[in-house]
Amino acid sequence: MRNRRAAVSAIAAAASLALTLTACGQSSEGGSEEDKGGTEGATIGIAMPTKSSERWIADGDNVVKDLEGKGYETRLVFGEDDPDQQVSQIENLITQGVDALIVAAIDNKSLGNVLQQAKDADIPVISYDRLILGTENVDYYASFDNEKVGELQGNYILDKLGLSGGEKGPFNIELFAGSNDDNNTRYFFQGAMNVLQPYIDKKQLVVRSKQTALNQVTTLRWDGGTAQKRMDDILTSAYKSERVDAVLSPYDGISIGILSALKSDDYGSASKPLPIVTGQDAEVASVKSIIADEQSMTVYKDTRELAKVASNMVDAVLSDKKPEVNDTKTYDNGAKVVPSYLLEPVSVDKENYQATVVDSGYLKESDLK
Ligand code: BGC
Repeated sequence: MRNRRAAVSAIAAAASLALTLTACGQSSEGGSEEDKGGTEGATIGIAMPTKSSERWIADGDNVVKDLEGKGYETRLVFGEDDPDQQVSQIENLITQGVDALIVAAIDNKSLGNVLQQAKDADIPVISYDRLILGTENVDYYASFDNEKVGELQGNYILDKLGLSGGEKGPFNIELFAGSNDDNNTRYFFQGAMNVLQPYIDKKQLVVRSKQTALNQVTTLRWDGGTAQKRMDDILTSAYKSERVDAVLSPYDGISIGILSALKSDDYGSASKPLPIVTGQDAEVASVKSIIADEQSMTVYKDTRELAKVASNMVDAVLSDKKPEVNDTKTYDNGAKVVPSYLLEPVSVDKENYQATVVDSGYLKESDLK
């Protein structure tokens, strides 16, 4: 029986507590309330990393909506990109007696102690989108095929430069990666480099800054301003009469920073066109930028689906059922291979944004005006 309402929850209204405890005594196996099982009224703690990017706000809202639809109560917190704040938020959720945790980590290695507390309190943990490293106390992982995200970005660059299979070039490219404390960063970068590196080796792609190693190109906390500054520095130091033809950017907020630096350096005219700039998350500002022929592409990850996967995982675990997974090999967090469910990312540009992000209802047409 995973569903354990801690004594701290006794402050809840007596009637609802009685109901909850009754429900806790049942297993859903074979019961008539298939979906809710013995979990009705259980509370799920959801720790999201930041409100500074719209995707995480939507993730939080969607997880809450899905869980409430299944009869759960929810406590949603945002860590504002501060790892210490996230640790204390999770500690508070544990103290409040949540029955399960869904966590999108800020710093993937800072949660070991607090997740031990969760384990000691018999609270299952779902790692949400970003794998938590170095602890056995992660039960399941819900994410996307993160390497594929990078491959989509890299392939887009190859296609648009006309490099795939051809002898064209050389073209100048600069590389950006995400935050070094996010496990996804290396998967995105690896995926992109799997397709770009052969062209760098053949000198059809040239990185004039010479910054090609992951630790030279990361962007702490995915901050757009930090990326803008790095792009400014690169343009000043490595580009005199030459032009940048492509920029690998892992995330829309970073892409917007890169584009600002480029525009300050007079890119964006017929004689000095903007380079190809990739992205990720289909954020409103970036889809608008794509429509305006500035950012070239983004990677759409339907976070509504991710929220469903995570909510279903929690529901299964609390009902003593096995959550559905589709990958039991890829995500080794250093302490164990965490069983995962990975969704498919989709490449989006001006040609298909309507058919992908708008027609699916992910973004509203009116938000893109
Ligand atoms: C997510 C990306 C997001 C990035 C910055 C990553 O962990 O997988 O979708 O762009 O964080 O928020």
